[in-house]
Amino acid sequence: MTENLVVCSKCGTINRLPPSRPAIDAKCGKCKAKVFAAHPEDVDAEIFDRQIARSTIPVLVDVWAPWCGPCRMMAPAYESAARELEPQVRLIKLNSDAEQAVASRLGIQGIVGARCASLWALRICRTNRQALYLATAFARHVVRSL
Ligand SMILES: [Zn+2]
Repeated sequence: MTENLVVCSKCGTINRLPPSRPAIDAKCGKCKAKVFAAHPEDVDAEIFDRQIARSTIPVLVDVWAPWCGPCRMMAPAYESAARELEPQVRLIKLNSDAEQAVASRLGIQGIVGARCASLWALRICRTNRQALYLATAFARHVVRSL
């Protein structure tokens, strides 16, 4: 087993997690926050890019908007997905209102429902083999199938 690189969702530091220690207990080397807090952190553009570029575990991102009803309904399921899936998967959130540049870079024109989000996720998956992007629809599916 090799060590994993996991990006802290709070400060963006890249942490090396040796396989000999349980990842769930790991603390960030810089800000001392738990690397896996069982809570999908809202990230800014810089930390989002780091997560995608540097993380060696799959990254699941929920692109949401504060005014979006389905997004808010989805939030508790996404939280519980974090509890279930970490530390095998990193779960983060991206506020598409606050980070419009990232959202448009990802090809998201608007938050128009889970179906579009999953199509978007599939598109990203094909263009980046290092990180696995899944979207809200997948998260919901995963939660259901647990
Ligand atoms: Zn940190």
